[in-house]
Amino acid sequence: MLRIHNQMSSFQELSEQVLFCDFDGPIVDVSERYYRTYKLGLSALQASYREDHGTDLPLQLLSKNQFWSMKRNRVADVEIALRSGVPSDLVESLLGQVQRIVNHPHLLQWDGLQLGADAAIRQLKARGIRLVIVTLRHPRQVQAFLQAHDLSQCIDEIFGASDINAAHLNRAEQKVALLERAITAQQSQGYQTSPTCMIGDTEADIIAGQQAGITTVAVTSGIRSQDYLTRYQPTEIVSNLLQAVQSHCMQQVVQAA
Ligand SMILES: [Mg+2]
Repeated sequence: MLRIHNQMSSFQELSEQVLFCDFDGPIVDVSERYYRTYKLGLSALQASYREDHGTDLPLQLLSKNQFWSMKRNRVADVEIALRSGVPSDLVESLLGQVQRIVNHPHLLQWDGLQLGADAAIRQLKARGIRLVIVTLRHPRQVQAFLQAHDLSQCIDEIFGASDINAAHLNRAEQKVALLERAITAQQSQGYQTSPTCMIGDTEADIIAGQQAGITTVAVTSGIRSQDYLTRYQPTEIVSNLLQAVQSHCMQQVVQAA
């Protein structure tokens, strides 16, 4: 686990109310990067097959909507590959290629800010909330994105994963451990973590929040559909970070601040 502390915030008054927020989904739209990675993986597979066999694979490229809707409903990557016409014996090779290139800087540049996320973050700061990001991304990637969008001064602390592949794999147990450490670290610095909540777009965020015993707000702007998120019974489900900030759960955090 890696942790980046924003020096600016060390001088602020303690006993601030803390809010925990995931990065991909509530703040970042990764759909274009993931789709381009999928397309690049397929073309690389096609090129090597052509070189080896002198003929083309009968691939069927999914549209971005089809692809993203499958990801949001948690259709397995193996299934997505099969539905794209990849022969079953070549699926592993495609998935390996996708894993290798998804964090390449040329693809990372396709990550975008979610609509209204900057306004939401600025609203939280204006209300004196301490904003802590808990993400399976590497903190360096998070910092680079925040700087590019002029938001780094709004984020007080980042708890990220040291493994560059962690975000793509999105393992719930990793998120649980990370949130636990983030909460403990805030408490030991004297910040208020009750009431607080965890905002995120996947089951990993909901499970992490639930295991930490805090309120969970799921957003549907990320890589999981509303139907899928409902099964995990978060405290609230809203469409994006801006709505999360205005949600009932958040009002309790804000009022305590
Ligand atoms: Mg996420």
